[in-house]
Amino acid sequence: MAHPDLNIRFHEPLAPRTSFELGGSAEALVEVSAVADLGEVLEWAVDSNRSVRVLGGGTNVVIADEGVAGLVIVPALRGIDIDRSGDGAVVVAAAGETWDDVVAETVSEGLMGLECLSGIPGTVGATPIQNVGAYGVETSDVVEWVEVFDREAGGVTRLSPAECSFGYRTSWFRRHPDRSIVTRVAFMLRATGRPVIRYTELEQVVGVGDPPPDVMVVREAVMALRQGKGMVLETGAPRSAGSFFVNPIVDAQTLAAVEAAAGDENAVPRYPAGEFYFKIPAAWLIEHAGFDRGFRQGAVGVSEHHALALVHHGGGRTQDLLNLAVSIRERVEQRFGIGLRPEPIFWGFASSDPLNGAG
Ligand code: NAP
Repeated sequence: MAHPDLNIRFHEPLAPRTSFELGGSAEALVEVSAVADLGEVLEWAVDSNRSVRVLGGGTNVVIADEGVAGLVIVPALRGIDIDRSGDGAVVVAAAGETWDDVVAETVSEGLMGLECLSGIPGTVGATPIQNVGAYGVETSDVVEWVEVFDREAGGVTRLSPAECSFGYRTSWFRRHPDRSIVTRVAFMLRATGRPVIRYTELEQVVGVGDPPPDVMVVREAVMALRQGKGMVLETGAPRSAGSFFVNPIVDAQTLAAVEAAAGDENAVPRYPAGEFYFKIPAAWLIEHAGFDRGFRQGAVGVSEHHALALVHHGGGRTQDLLNLAVSIRERVEQRFGIGLRPEPIFWGFASSDPLNGAG
């Protein structure tokens, strides 16, 4: 039996803990506020033969209507520590901190590196897992180390950026979901130089001249851009998990096939992604496959601000969302020959990608 201080709760509803506000309950759930308790919690899961999942801010997860078997751990670890040295600072943030609080604090300290990642919902612990990115900056650009509780070794260890094996919206953690629990992340930020402005859309708002825009101005511009696209979670707005699909990275041959399907090669937006590849905005594929912004199918739909975000208007079920996502994926595939990869993770389904097949 687990120590009573661990406060493991049974049949805990998960919908209120997710940004979609959909899905059933966790068989068991525990909030862990000290790294020292993780070992005991994990031991309890092993002894009681329960699988383990980790829930951060719930902003990138789809929960099955039937709920989730096993134990859900919510890391409630807190703390933001800013250690200035030279012309920068190492910022160490605990996994349970709200991501945007960390961005706000570093920006108000005049530190650069996280400003383009303003307004992204969720917790610090989730950022390295999917290598969260926005406006041309990815978590991996600024990560110094990631501290994890290694479930195999039974203790805390630090991973270098190379060990995290970051990729486009993915990492070692996504490929080994059962191996570790992120406890803290360290970021190397700059106090001098210029804020990072890589995307034209942002440049048009803040400029890139001399003197360079203040880092706070860049943060506010990113927040305003995201708000305009419904990419900031706001009270009263339809519920969503931000981007529902990852922008596909394709080779020249696939791009040519998409151009042919579109009937106009200049109509297909693309951005270089490495020497031989191109990134096509998934939102463009979705809209051109017939799903306009604001499309609605019962309680779910496509955001009226951005075709990449699927939304829940309330009173729906996860299955409604899956049905819509499956139709979008199928129509994009039929029209353009591209199989979109979902960005959220799926809990409580037979497959890790329930859009592919069973539904
Ligand atoms: P957008 O300007 O409508 O562009 C659509 C897509 O084209 C973006 O997703 C972006 O890819 C890509 N893109 C645009 N300009 C680019 C450039 N100069 N170089 C390379 N790729 C470019 O973008 P949006 O959909 O409104 O999103 C704005 C930014 O917020 C994007 O970076 C997006 O990724 C980010 N965002 C992230 C999340 C998340 O992490 N969950 C959620 C919402 C939005 P990238 O996505 O690779 O940047």
